[in-house]
Amino acid sequence: DPRLTAISACFTVHQDFPKKGVSFRNILPVLRDPKLFKLLNDVSVERIHAKFPGKIDLVAGLEARGFLFGPSLADRLGCGFVPIRKPGKLPGKLVSVDYEKEYGKDVLEVEEDAIKPGSRVLLVDDVLATGGSLAAAAELVRKCGGTLVGSFVVVEMAFLNGRKKAPDALEALFIYT
Ligand code: 5GP
Repeated sequence: DPRLTAISACFTVHQDFPKKGVSFRNILPVLRDPKLFKLLNDVSVERIHAKFPGKIDLVAGLEARGFLFGPSLADRLGCGFVPIRKPGKLPGKLVSVDYEKEYGKDVLEVEEDAIKPGSRVLLVDDVLATGGSLAAAAELVRKCGGTLVGSFVVVEMAFLNGRKKAPDALEALFIYT
């Protein structure tokens, strides 16, 4: 698909960022260019419709870069958007999950009334690395009584085997091996 070639041409790779041994892919330049960002949304929505043909009630985006891609997809899918955040950022009653990261533990939170029991949720993030974040977000959706439709990421770092940990139904636009 020439659209994918055009989009990925703006991605940059940063060795040893944010720490030694990590090869970080920066996909934020896609947001600078309105034509590329529109292409990204076009292709993403096509892929989401093909992979997840059932009804989607909510897109839930993971802090922080899932917030950049989730809302425009929600708009095009005709559904709502809910932020899944790091601890201490959301007010009011919350549902939270603890999960193991590479070094130590972390927490994800969502507003208690954001995901209604039975609502069909699509998780969105920019990059799938080890899969820990998406796995924790999936547990959060389940804890709220939501039904996980699947997960969508722009980039999958396949060599980190994130699909082993991440929830089953996953669509990625770009897969780096
Ligand atoms: P995981 O939990 O799958 O190991 O990590 C995924 C999270 O880390 C995502 O929220 C993503 O934003 C961030 N991340 C990990 N590696 C990269 C990378 O190479 N590029 C970008 N942009 N984000 C990354």
